[in-house]
Amino acid sequence: MENKILLSEQEIPRFFYNIVADMPNKPLPPLHPGTRQPITPDLLEPLFPKELIQQEVSAERYIEIPRQVRDIYAKWRPSPLFRARGLEKLLDTPARIYYKYEGVSPAGSHKPNTAVAQAFYSKISGVKRIATETGAGQWGTALAYACQLFGLECEVFMVRVSYDQKPYRKIMMNTFGATVHASPSGQTAYGKKVLAENPDSSGSLGIAISEAIERAVSDPQSHYALGSVLNHVLLHQTIIGQEALLQMEKAGHMPDVVVAPFGGGSNFAGIAFPFLRLNLADDQQIRFIAVEPASCPKLTRGSFRYDFGDTAGMTPLLPMYTLGHDFIPSPIHAGGLRYHGAGVLVSQLLKDGLIEAVSQPQEPCFKAGLDFIRAEGIIPAPEATHAIATVIDEALKCRESGTEKTILFNLCGHGYFDMGAYASYMAGELTDPSVSEQEISASLSGTDQLQPG
Ligand SMILES: *Cc1c(COP(=O)(O)O)cnc(C)c1O
Repeated sequence: MENKILLSEQEIPRFFYNIVADMPNKPLPPLHPGTRQPITPDLLEPLFPKELIQQEVSAERYIEIPRQVRDIYAKWRPSPLFRARGLEKLLDTPARIYYKYEGVSPAGSHKPNTAVAQAFYSKISGVKRIATETGAGQWGTALAYACQLFGLECEVFMVRVSYDQKPYRKIMMNTFGATVHASPSGQTAYGKKVLAENPDSSGSLGIAISEAIERAVSDPQSHYALGSVLNHVLLHQTIIGQEALLQMEKAGHMPDVVVAPFGGGSNFAGIAFPFLRLNLADDQQIRFIAVEPASCPKLTRGSFRYDFGDTAGMTPLLPMYTLGHDFIPSPIHAGGLRYHGAGVLVSQLLKDGLIEAVSQPQEPCFKAGLDFIRAEGIIPAPEATHAIATVIDEALKCRESGTEKTILFNLCGHGYFDMGAYASYMAGELTDPSVSEQEISASLSGTDQLQPG
């Protein structure tokens, strides 16, 4: 019985899989906030290279991966798939548990899968630099790595709370040659405005996105890049699920349940979409569970409507599950999951009942994380522990009912820069912030006037 399923370099997928081709209800278009009409691609040209704008609106099922991008992927791809025998034993479950490990990438997460593609397209379009935001620092690290491969400058606005919690993440970005500012920063008009209103702001992804966009639009030599949410980002991540599909076939077990943590939807989509195709095109009945933090519950307690992707209201309006663009999530340790909205593709699929969502408070996630560490020897990112907590719930249900299911989850990143978070958990110092219905309806009320018609 195999414990580790590997693929050869030749088996790195040659195409990204675009789920739009197989969706029963196509995603609604992004709207211009002024006219409430679908936006035209030229509006995005100051921010993104043409190829990515085409991918953003494409309905083609397969999109070829450029050779240069595939060659770089080969440094860490195909990533390994493990059978979690230690965890199965610990839980005494008849379930088979597998995980795809994306922590082997240079940045330590799934994010370089899209960062490398985005930097490649920006490079061939002739810009000199890319501005971006980062939550926990994973995306900033991935983009910093990708930019230096292509000789691009990289400027990162890092959410203040993570900047303070994870100093080594910032230094890692610096080693790749990036400039990093704590956000809200004094570097942009929007950052200055936020600081004037609240000098102690812990920041949010929404604020940092506003700052990075402002930077990119004010410099014709600069693009902007987003590490999640957008269709082209989810598209690039499907390399994960396509590899996992081959690996599960080799293992001789197709999953009954696929689980992944959920920030904006990219690692979830990455592992889920190639398997979801089997439900849509081949009548299979695999379950897909997106796991969000209880303190930032857009999928389970938010509302499906048009909203801005950022806090300042600079992006097009996106049809998505959201808590409102003013929502500032509590400073939990899973910084990558602190986003008010969700990708358009995953939002539509959830609305159509084709995927499921659950939420987990952070305390049980860290407990699950420690069980996993002791059983499997890999330290998961706090984001990834959300998937693990749900996998354990599912595996224990299998134990109770005596059913032999196969569970696959995305171990989307390692947690070697998150020792501070594990330290506070082990010292019993973690809090579990909750969100009231009033807070959610208050921040959603800011989106009421954004609805079309
Ligand atoms: C960024 C990040 C996430 C959340 O983003 P998604 O786009 O939802 O994947 C989750 N886990 C890790 C390790 C991350 O770096």
